[in-house]
Amino acid sequence: MTRVVFIGPPGAGKGTQAVKFASTLGIPHISTGDLIRAEKKAGTPLGMEVQKYADEGKLVPDEIVLKIVAERLEEDDAKKGFLFDGFPRTIAQAKSLDRYLKIHHMPLSVVVFFDVPDDVIVERICGRRTCRNTGNVYHVRFNPPPASGRDENGKQLDLYQREDDTEEKVRVRLKEYEENTAALIPYYKESGVFQNIDANRDISEIEADLADLAIKLSA
Ligand code: AMP
Repeated sequence: MTRVVFIGPPGAGKGTQAVKFASTLGIPHISTGDLIRAEKKAGTPLGMEVQKYADEGKLVPDEIVLKIVAERLEEDDAKKGFLFDGFPRTIAQAKSLDRYLKIHHMPLSVVVFFDVPDDVIVERICGRRTCRNTGNVYHVRFNPPPASGRDENGKQLDLYQREDDTEEKVRVRLKEYEENTAALIPYYKESGVFQNIDANRDISEIEADLADLAIKLSA
């Protein structure tokens, strides 16, 4: 059973790598951002509550995120492990996750930190395009979507730009990251499962490092 956490600033490439890494390991990719956007889209009471935070680039309150995560962990596929992408994002969330994992005797296998300097983040995020059908993430310059309009499995792409992927919102998200999420680095360094990855490289190079890590984790 492999249990993975991807942390790092917005636009570090976590989502891009998470889709592939989770599928290599045969574990579900759980992105709290995706779960929150799904609630918003479905117009649930929870979705309406989180909308104002997510649209502004602010962090959704811990108790709401923890509720969403707890429900997702109850689903069958999460019994064989998981890859959290964008969770935890605060020390309180990390502590709560630790408690849950301890009670269920499920220690984390690895926490991967996507290390990338602030100055490249804005360009990365503003060029980002996400596919509604596959969840794949592209970049108009660094990772352009196939000209055929279909992914490598022949699935039709339906690309959109996230509402919070504008320069103004990115600045808010980066501030949130510095104020709340960056503290997770020393926190997880102490856990003994922390792994730094230089995310300021080509997607293929990062992917190669993660492929090596996946082999180690499966051994
Ligand atoms: P992401 O797709 O990971 O960039 O997340 C998009 C937005 O969803 C964030 O800017 C937050 O508003 C919200 N969000 C996602 N994950 C979390 C989390 N773990 N804690 C608080 N808010 C979150």
